[in-house]
Amino acid sequence: MVAARKSPSTAAAPASRLAAPPSILPGIGPSMAKKLAARDLHTVEDLIWLVPRRYDDVRLVTPLGAAITAAARDRDPDPDVGARARTTTFGVTLSSRYQRRGRRGWVDLRLAGTDDTASRLLVRFFNAHPSLAKRTPRGSRVVLSGKLERRTVGAEMTNPDILSITLPGGVVDQRQADIIPRYSDVAGVAPATLRKAIAAAVADGARHVADGVPAAVIARLGMVSLAEALSALHAPAPTLSVDEVESLNRGDSVWHRRLAFDELFTLGLAVAIRRRARRADHAAPCPLPVNTATEPASGAGPEPAAAALLPPLPAALSGALGRALPWQLTGAQRRAVTTISADLARDVPMNRLLQGDVGSGKTAVAFAALWQAVQAGKQVAFMAPTAILAEQHAATLLPWCNALGVRATLLTAATPRATRQDILGLLGDKQLDLLIGTHALLSEGVEFADLGLVIIDEQHRFGVAQRFDLRAKGEGDEPGVPHLLVMTATPIPRTLALTAYGDLDVTTIDELPPGRQPTKTLVLSGASGRERAYALVQRCLDAGERIYVVCPLIEPPESPGDGPPRADAIGTAERLSQTFAPARVGLVHGRMPQRERDDVMDRFRRGEVDILVATTVIEVGVDVPEATVMVIVDAHGFGLAQLHQLRGRVGRGGGASHCLLMTRGRKTPEGRRRLEIMAETSDGFRIAEEDLRLRGPGELIGVRQSGLPRLRFGDLREHGALLVQARDAAEAVIAADPKLERPEHRGVRQVLRQRTRDAALYGAESG
Ligand code: ADP
Ligand code: MG
Repeated sequence: MVAARKSPSTAAAPASRLAAPPSILPGIGPSMAKKLAARDLHTVEDLIWLVPRRYDDVRLVTPLGAAITAAARDRDPDPDVGARARTTTFGVTLSSRYQRRGRRGWVDLRLAGTDDTASRLLVRFFNAHPSLAKRTPRGSRVVLSGKLERRTVGAEMTNPDILSITLPGGVVDQRQADIIPRYSDVAGVAPATLRKAIAAAVADGARHVADGVPAAVIARLGMVSLAEALSALHAPAPTLSVDEVESLNRGDSVWHRRLAFDELFTLGLAVAIRRRARRADHAAPCPLPVNTATEPASGAGPEPAAAALLPPLPAALSGALGRALPWQLTGAQRRAVTTISADLARDVPMNRLLQGDVGSGKTAVAFAALWQAVQAGKQVAFMAPTAILAEQHAATLLPWCNALGVRATLLTAATPRATRQDILGLLGDKQLDLLIGTHALLSEGVEFADLGLVIIDEQHRFGVAQRFDLRAKGEGDEPGVPHLLVMTATPIPRTLALTAYGDLDVTTIDELPPGRQPTKTLVLSGASGRERAYALVQRCLDAGERIYVVCPLIEPPESPGDGPPRADAIGTAERLSQTFAPARVGLVHGRMPQRERDDVMDRFRRGEVDILVATTVIEVGVDVPEATVMVIVDAHGFGLAQLHQLRGRVGRGGGASHCLLMTRGRKTPEGRRRLEIMAETSDGFRIAEEDLRLRGPGELIGVRQSGLPRLRFGDLREHGALLVQARDAAEAVIAADPKLERPEHRGVRQVLRQRTRDAALYGAESG
């Protein structure tokens, strides 16, 4: 397999040869190197990491007559299965001709069997070089691997791989039978050339590629070395069993898992180092005020008997919350409040993710946290992803704050300039305890005198990176990092919680406030579905209820395109105001001025608008308990997490509620599956897992922006157990050698640095 090296490369040291351009490899000239570079293959090492897409087992060579008989017998009614079955066969050339019709040229090669000399095969090579005809003269023995098709005119193969050609009288090469790796196509580079170059790169360099896992870990877990894995993947041993070849083709061979482990281990290191850094930071402790223990929970009266069954709250919190909140906290809310309260009291920055399904009551938990921080003399920033949400949080929180003497206000882009200046002044003088706003709060020169706690609502809309800007924000009398509470209604699947969120502690609210009825979800398609939806909407309007209608677009698209249909909010609002007249229809979308949008939202909240047509600006957190119907138009176009969020806008009051998923036209299988899942379950955790399965983790929470290494071989969906193993191993290594300074960890540190740098680049590109 080892091809002759070009002279310059033999002079170079092995490590530098890994970094050398592919043009040092046999068969790769400067122009081909350019084509490889266009696919991000810049070095010999890049080629070594280009793992085959599939493998063809051509060890079983069947003579032509037998191959044709077998193809007739196995003809599979399932076209997919048939397409995958490849045959390796050989015959003797009867004729070989270059053919031409207009601008198309091809080579027709006719073979006869050696076992059954009457058997015939027509082999057609499109886009072949005319010289191929000359290389396969009459009487030569040709071994081919490809899909054998039986047409009425006879057996045919199109563009098979030629494994060998033995000229008449030549000696048959017995070593040709092999397991052939197939790489994804690189435009302009012949597959055979690429294969040869990679084989040379691997033979020469695989053992020099830096292993991302310490040798001790590899030995303890009984894994193969990285070099062994890379070699096995590029040049599978001819002695592999059929099962092993199948595992190669499925991508779950031990060697594939070794590459996955390598990446997951690096990821584990990155997370462990971050967590350590975070734990090493100092935060101002915010203990609960003492001596309010005897205070009765006055506002809401004494705790009812049922409360005795609920988990207890720290006395100070119980008293304060009793005065501020109109209801009892649920058990899950109490557990979350108690955990967070303990975090805040420590001098290590809290770094906690509070996850709870839409409507589970996260705001009240956040309120408890902010009250505690304020009691300790600290200021709090409370940030939401949109101005509408920030306003809504203000509407909820300000009365609670007033009840407890917390000085709070709202600051958004819509705040008049003069007011803004006043607010900033108060903030700098520590005359304000709580500032509610969008995430711009921390980036637009808003200076807190003594920021002790940052609360971020609906984290999944932010990307992960922003969390880490906070370290710069610790100011005030006691310098340190503020405590951080991140809230999300899109639960983080467990695997992601270990990785992208691996440095966050997670608390879950797994219970809804009492009296909620699940929202009934219907998938309605086509014209008949529309009729049903209209009838239901009319009934609810007659009952005085309020309705959301969400559309994917603001305006009609300029050209219809050929994707699935997507309705626009502006047109839909017009149509609905005619259909349902005299019902009052309002419209909000992201391109309306903030003030107009607020005005419409307010009228909807007050009941002066009956039907609110919107884009996904209302996706997160908007709270209008009187809204009972969520109609999502062309629902096939929305992501699962979005659909779940939208559905969460209804069913917040006590009564029955509906979510109508309208759909029309042809759907992708994925689009259909999303709607099925929505109809099946309202469990946010299941939906998040399904979402991860359908979409992959990349987009889901912005792992790309996280600065963590990206995964090429590791798959958070497939490798849950491997991930846990890698995480544990990585944590043990960091615990023993926090800075990876030991000599045996030098290579590991180098790989970590390399991969995290790549991740940073990657993140910057994807914006
Ligand atoms: P989330 O932000 O988790 O989606 P919210 O904090 O907006 O949920 O709360 C959803 C709704 O439930 C709000 O109308 C809120 O007033 C109400 N709520 C929250 N906690 C309770 C509780 N313990 N008992 C009754 N209602 C509650
Ligand atoms: Mg919320």
